[in-house]
Amino acid sequence: MNRVKNFNAGPAALPLPALERAREEFLDFARSGMSVMEHSHRGKEYEACHDEAIALLKELLAVPDTHEVLFVQGGASQLFAQIPMNLVPKGGSADYVVTGAWSEKAVAEARLATAMLGGAVRVACTTGTGEGKEKSYVRAPAPGEVKAADGAAYLHLTSNETIHGVEFDVDASRAFPGTGAVPLIADMSSDFLWKKIDVSKFGLVYAGAQKNIGPSGVVVMVVSKALVEQGRKDIPKIFQFRTPAENKSLYNTPPTFGIYMIRNVLSWLKGLGGLPAMEARNRKKAGVLYGAIDANPAFYKCPVEKQSRSVMNVVFRLPGEADEERFVKEAKARGMVGLKGHRSVGGIRVSAYNAVEPAWIDELAAFMGEFARKG
Ligand code: PMP
Repeated sequence: MNRVKNFNAGPAALPLPALERAREEFLDFARSGMSVMEHSHRGKEYEACHDEAIALLKELLAVPDTHEVLFVQGGASQLFAQIPMNLVPKGGSADYVVTGAWSEKAVAEARLATAMLGGAVRVACTTGTGEGKEKSYVRAPAPGEVKAADGAAYLHLTSNETIHGVEFDVDASRAFPGTGAVPLIADMSSDFLWKKIDVSKFGLVYAGAQKNIGPSGVVVMVVSKALVEQGRKDIPKIFQFRTPAENKSLYNTPPTFGIYMIRNVLSWLKGLGGLPAMEARNRKKAGVLYGAIDANPAFYKCPVEKQSRSVMNVVFRLPGEADEERFVKEAKARGMVGLKGHRSVGGIRVSAYNAVEPAWIDELAAFMGEFARKG
């Protein structure tokens, strides 16, 4: 077996021990004589695993009693629509902070959903400059730049822009904004559980699992019970947040294998020392990568401002596109894959999620030094 060093942006590398555990349990889960995929989602073996995944999330994040953990489907993309459907009342309005491609998508869906259901959307702050092909995003706003409107249903931001490599709250000067009585909502798809957060500051955080905590097909929500309660009742039941909340995320058939894998990944994470240990590991990895970029400023350029440089998705450019192609190709020949930047922005992107081993990053940084020297 020759496993590669996987720097994919998502679906992404999973911790080897979590995969090995799945292999061991694959044919015979919990001594039941069948795979977890063959179990009823209402059977006691599956339910124990489902409950354990929820309990691990609550423990790792110290989720307070005011909030609950839900598993939903449809990707983070579905939540772009579902959040305004649930939370913007008729005649109401929601605020959005735009820091890259994913927050642009979130606003666009919210516009359609609120137009359909009688509400509005306001961009409270954008850090984008330029238009069309020249449009760029290189920073998260400072907290003082973001003012939620009085009475806004919520303020939504994207804690980590997976394509642009811009992240909130890596540096204290780019902390999450305070929003007073307005609930703060964060799409944490690409930086969920990279470090501890104070859940009580958020009305809702949500994340597609396929970057940091499992395979695709599951979205985790950590949501305040008050917001669930306030949600509109004039939308289809399947879209109401109260539906999973009232049914322990077992209203309809959940993606059982995905939730099982989340259980494996989270028990690995806990075993490594939980979120404080994960934060130290991730900051170190990012330090090595940005160090390799900054050590060769004539060759590598990271467009993102220092205070907003993402710990999870490190983006940079080489002198020309031909150099970038060669970089990706030569890295691949050394077993390092997934380094091509998103097609919309080009360049190189190193996704260094939790499961990416520090040793892979060291190897990549050494390769970067060598590649720059050769020119
Ligand atoms: N938000 C962010 C920040 C993302 O990176 C992604 C996926 N790359 C999404 C939302 C969309 O997630 P999904 O494909 O699960 O709908």
